[in-house]
Amino acid sequence: MSLELKHREELVRFGKLVHQQGFVSACDGNLSVRLDSHRVLATPTGVSKGMMSVDDMVVVDMHGKPLEGSHDVSSEIAMHLTIYRMRPDIHAVVHTHPTTATGFASAGIALDQPICSEVIVTLGAVPLAEYGTTGTPELSASLLPYVHDYDAILLSNHGTVTYGTSLMHAYLKTEAVEHFAKIMLVTVQLGQQRSLSPANIRKLVEARRSYKGNNSLASMPVGPLKKPERDLEENLDKLKAILREEDILASRKR
Ligand SMILES: [Zn+2]
Repeated sequence: MSLELKHREELVRFGKLVHQQGFVSACDGNLSVRLDSHRVLATPTGVSKGMMSVDDMVVVDMHGKPLEGSHDVSSEIAMHLTIYRMRPDIHAVVHTHPTTATGFASAGIALDQPICSEVIVTLGAVPLAEYGTTGTPELSASLLPYVHDYDAILLSNHGTVTYGTSLMHAYLKTEAVEHFAKIMLVTVQLGQQRSLSPANIRKLVEARRSYKGNNSLASMPVGPLKKPERDLEENLDKLKAILREEDILASRKR
């Protein structure tokens, strides 16, 4: 079996999973895999992620220009391409709207409380990116302060994006974010959170070295994450330097 066919089958498999887990509704969400240095294989827009076949996938170049496939690609592909450009170690991206995590993203609350030992080892803090309108360069620009240091980001009033060295790891991080959000919600309902001490957090970060799972780069601070100083306007300017997003928007067919 060719490597590309294997990736197409993985997109079908993990598309079904995100749908079954309720991370998306209707035709929401998009998943992608980096094929090589200039091509990305992505799920189609306007198709339920639970009902895709291998032939539904779209191949685009690093500017989002369609190269292969009968479907259109989502305008949110720009967010995936920004991550691939900024993180050469990343080979797959998953963007969904999981209910609880999106609830936190819509309440304006980052998932950065050091209350779960497993989360500190596998995921680290999940920052909240500033709101950016979907289908515009604002969405990619909102991610810029976080892409280098985190592998999972909450998109304000929208959803989540996670990424990893494989589609399996990118997917598992979405699962972990939603699971962490559910635990956070329970602590809010109980009216109490007991944070781990800095010494215990350090021990867990050390333990990452021997952990073979979906490791993340992200740290877990003792206090809440600091907001990056750059604002959305400045990030938009920076984005233009990283990614010729105008090309993406011009070449994409809605
Ligand atoms: Zn979305």
